[in-house]
Amino acid sequence: MNRKTFIKTLILTSGAIMLSNKKLFFKSNDEDIITLKMIYNNFSSNQQLKNEWGLSIWIEYKNDVVLFDTGGNPLALWENIEKLNLNTQRISTIIISHLHWDHINGLPLILEKTNNKPKIYVPEHDLETIKATASGGNYIGITEPQKINDLIWTTGQMEASYKNNSFCEQSIIIQKENAIYVFTGCSHPGIVEIVEKSISIFPNKIIQLVAGGFHLLQHSEEQVKNISDKFKELEIQKIAPSHCTGEKAIEIFRDQWKENFVDFNLGDRINL
Ligand SMILES: [Zn+2]
Ligand SMILES: [Zn+2]
Repeated sequence: MNRKTFIKTLILTSGAIMLSNKKLFFKSNDEDIITLKMIYNNFSSNQQLKNEWGLSIWIEYKNDVVLFDTGGNPLALWENIEKLNLNTQRISTIIISHLHWDHINGLPLILEKTNNKPKIYVPEHDLETIKATASGGNYIGITEPQKINDLIWTTGQMEASYKNNSFCEQSIIIQKENAIYVFTGCSHPGIVEIVEKSISIFPNKIIQLVAGGFHLLQHSEEQVKNISDKFKELEIQKIAPSHCTGEKAIEIFRDQWKENFVDFNLGDRINL
């Protein structure tokens, strides 16, 4: 059986996935629920929070918290954390997608607000540069795809370039039961390439969701539609483009994906 047929069978036999109130639910025991909260983003669903350019996702599982990226303006990040009543002392792990300011500028503040020295996973290629932004952290350089904790994997660092600068970016993959959920920072290596890398790590899982920044600001309507088609070819079930995807591209995706388009913007939460 090829991958396509295998995934189709998997989808038909699992059947437990449903969408309700803009939130994604995977039928599972309450204590096993993973909650992801978008706490920093330029696209907002909550007027009480500060929306500025960048991205940060708060991931809760049992008593543990993992932070994926830290936004661009530490003051705005802190305001959102306080308004959402989140306890930074619970953060055990920080994963940084890449070295750009809109993903790392909140890092020194987060380190200040935690006593337990969280592990900070960064692309090995840019470890020294990121260290210079927030010194004294417990840094771990990532090269290859690897398991970070019980739930979360990294794609490993993938090469990228932006405005003539070469760097690396990692995305995260949450694996639960038959499915994987891919979360990206800015997708500088290419959103399709990131999904293909995720498939190569988990060839026999349903890609239930791809969310985050897709970096399509400069793409034409036709190019965005091609990416949308490619996503369908890759059997992605739902998408939640945000941050640097661009307003125009987001509207094209919304139109093409209909009920399989998920809003995951500032103030939104996803339960898996
Ligand atoms: Zn970037
Ligand atoms: Zn960005």
